[in-house]
Amino acid sequence: MNFDILIIGGGPAGITLAKYLPEKLKIGIIEKGDLKYNNKINLNDYGYCSKYGNYPFENYATNFSSVNYFGGNSLVWSGWSIPFDPNEASAWPIPYSELNKYYRAAEKFLNLKSFEKLNNENYEEYKKFETDEWKINSWQFVKKKNFNFFANTFKNNVKIFLKSEFKKFYFEENKVEGVVIDTPKEKNKIINSKYVVLAQGGLQSTKSLLLCERDQKKNMGNENGHLGKFYMEHPHINLGFFYDNKKAFKDKFLKKDFKLEGLFLKNPYTEKIINGCVTFNTESLLLNKDALRLLYMLRVKRFPKNILANYKSYDFIKNLIKGTYDLFLEKIQNKKFIYARFEQKPNINSYMEIDKNDKINLNWDISETDIDSFIEITNKVQNYIKNKISEKVFIDDAIYDKVNWHEKYKPLVLGIGHHMGTTMMSNNNKKGVVNENLQLHHRQNIFICSSSVFPTGGVAHPTFTICALAIRLAEFLSRKFS
Ligand SMILES: Cc1cc2nc3c(=O)[nH]c(=O)nc-3n(C[C@H](O)[C@H](O)[C@H](O)COP(=O)(O)OP(=O)(O)OC[C@H]3O[C@@H](n4cnc5c(N)ncnc54)[C@H](O)[C@@H]3O)c2cc1C
Repeated sequence: MNFDILIIGGGPAGITLAKYLPEKLKIGIIEKGDLKYNNKINLNDYGYCSKYGNYPFENYATNFSSVNYFGGNSLVWSGWSIPFDPNEASAWPIPYSELNKYYRAAEKFLNLKSFEKLNNENYEEYKKFETDEWKINSWQFVKKKNFNFFANTFKNNVKIFLKSEFKKFYFEENKVEGVVIDTPKEKNKIINSKYVVLAQGGLQSTKSLLLCERDQKKNMGNENGHLGKFYMEHPHINLGFFYDNKKAFKDKFLKKDFKLEGLFLKNPYTEKIINGCVTFNTESLLLNKDALRLLYMLRVKRFPKNILANYKSYDFIKNLIKGTYDLFLEKIQNKKFIYARFEQKPNINSYMEIDKNDKINLNWDISETDIDSFIEITNKVQNYIKNKISEKVFIDDAIYDKVNWHEKYKPLVLGIGHHMGTTMMSNNNKKGVVNENLQLHHRQNIFICSSSVFPTGGVAHPTFTICALAIRLAEFLSRKFS
């Protein structure tokens, strides 16, 4: 079998890419999952989180945010979409004006409004909430969230291999000539292709390259060993709460019409500050790990193994009842939760590796520099609420306790499958694993289409940017055949 382009992974990245490649090309999508969520397929790829990544349940960041299914994690995602700001992407090798062009294309693809227009429209409505330090931006929510529906929309030039797992690259001498896959009918099937794009999600794409280096003894990363390093997430932390008794917010900062507003720093990246943004939630459900467990089960419509590992069903039910009661009380009290999403600075001590059983061990680290930034931003949020909304702000003091910070927050920090940094993009092959065209520095015909190429994490949810990069990559690859 010979293909022009083989895409490994049928998640949002792989699907968007395939949709934008020209019909004259012969394209294959290798997808480990099926058209329906299959418990069995999703059982055999567990990894470990040795530091952060264990909230709301054990090994959440490695296992439960790498769904094997045609549609990938779009089965469980929430659809939050927003572009990177120019200053968040200033260290990227792609000029922002160019990235922006592909954001416009991604808006059309995902059926979203123009973000530029939306922010202009919101300006009047939210003007009074702006200050010298804070501005208001909007997220949009993708309406048709599950990319699975694309399965029936491909033309004949696209062949989808379901329940088929990429095992390794197929080399002839030193050149990648294709891949080796296991299909339901045949093990170690060789498929030739001119180009291979890894679109397996941030962790799994990195794992494929690490395994190739270890088992096939081929250079895939860079000479400084950066493959698998600089893992970044968006630590989600509840900072505290306040009572909006004067109803300053009225119907503002609430999710409606598929959009939601939040506070964004006007001038991030100063002294100790990296970046962060804040939403004001009307409920504490996100702080209830059993509510998050339940949400996950409802989304996959299954009872995934390990979701209640080392946990009593009795506690699960008790916590859900308590959560429902809290919700009721919070509504009466006009209580608002201050929910922050922070940016992390790329840090070489935050990394993933593969153990001897081929499992991912994720060593997601939060550095002192990150914590300093969290603290500074928390102070700014606190001042904002005191000055603009309500004197009665209750910030959890633990955020300031740098000595005991990890002990307190390890069981609390949520990272929602935003797997960034481990195959970083840079035109300098000593710093990056891929160049600005998402092409491996070491292999001209292998590309990575995933959030693992993000050189900085910003505070934007990643999928909208992944789709923009996939459309850009489709154009780049098309030119190779023109
Ligand atoms: C609970 C949750 C909520 C989220 N909410 C949001 C949100 O609101 N907004 C946002 O922007 N992002 C969100 N995300 C992140 C979002 O889901 C990911 O950014 C997005 O799915 C990444 O797309 P992808 O195609 O790169 O990878 P994935 O979605 O992970 O897809 C990768 C595909 O590759 C396949 N694959 C992996 N290994 C192999 C192999 N060896 N062989 C063959 N196939 C393979 C997998 O089966 C999968 O289908 C959320 C994530 C989670 C877990």
